[in-house]
Amino acid sequence: METINLTDASLPSSLAEKGLAVTDDAARNVCRVECDVAIVGSGCGGGVAAAVLAGAGHKVVVIEKGNYFTSRDYTSFEGPSINQLYESGGFVTTMNGGGLLLAGSTVGGGSAVNWSACLKTPEFVRREWAAAHGLPLFASPDYAAAMDKVFERLGVTSGCTEEGLQNKVLRKGVREAALPKHVVVYGILVLETDWWPHRFLNKKIADWTVT
Ligand SMILES: Cc1cc2nc3c(=O)[nH]c(=O)nc-3n(C[C@H](O)[C@H](O)[C@H](O)COP(=O)(O)OP(=O)(O)OC[C@H]3O[C@@H](n4cnc5c(N)ncnc54)[C@H](O)[C@@H]3O)c2cc1C
Repeated sequence: METINLTDASLPSSLAEKGLAVTDDAARNVCRVECDVAIVGSGCGGGVAAAVLAGAGHKVVVIEKGNYFTSRDYTSFEGPSINQLYESGGFVTTMNGGGLLLAGSTVGGGSAVNWSACLKTPEFVRREWAAAHGLPLFASPDYAAAMDKVFERLGVTSGCTEEGLQNKVLRKGVREAALPKHVVVYGILVLETDWWPHRFLNKKIADWTVT
């Protein structure tokens, strides 16, 4: 439900229609919603957590600050779409202004705007997170199994028959610039490579290539 289309008066009944027990405390201007789990943010993390918890029978409420868009609701032109779908209209910088951070802020979070390139966290990164940051879960078989599950749910494949437009453009650019190729990058894919974002930051575009 989109609260932007609701009023203080219609919100409680809309929540109740979704099967939620709601107590409207008008005196304190509070609407109390009963659920087992409240998840803040509907992005890749929140979305997966919500699906797993709801699948296990919990009553889950996902709270998303961004608006909900379908393809009919926006132009698909880059300028206005970035404004509508990204955190702070796409203008979030690091403290010193040296870096620009792009993050989706809409229903689906980053998954609504990202490339759907699917990488499994490589062994060496998982070991580093576990050892250097005291996060043993990342080196465990449970984490590997969770990645497998997400890949299965998303239908990740390296056997795409129809590429998205952005990948066609990237492929054309790589071909025309005669860059060497060793990495596959297209919608919902598998990367069998040692490529990894923090390495990418130290690489030239020529090292990041497409088959
Ligand atoms: C342009 C772009 C392309 C990308 N391409 C890829 C790719 O190809 N492959 C890949 O693996 N990753 C890609 N990523 C990265 C990936 O999308 C993110 O790593 C991922 O979305 C992070 O998931 P998350 O759940 O941590 O947060 P997000 O997906 O960012 O979700 C956070 C959500 O929480 C909401 N939120 C924040 N604060 C509040 C609040 N106080 N109350 C309510 N809601 C709140 C936000 O609006 C947002 O919707 C890309 C990212 C971008 C921006």
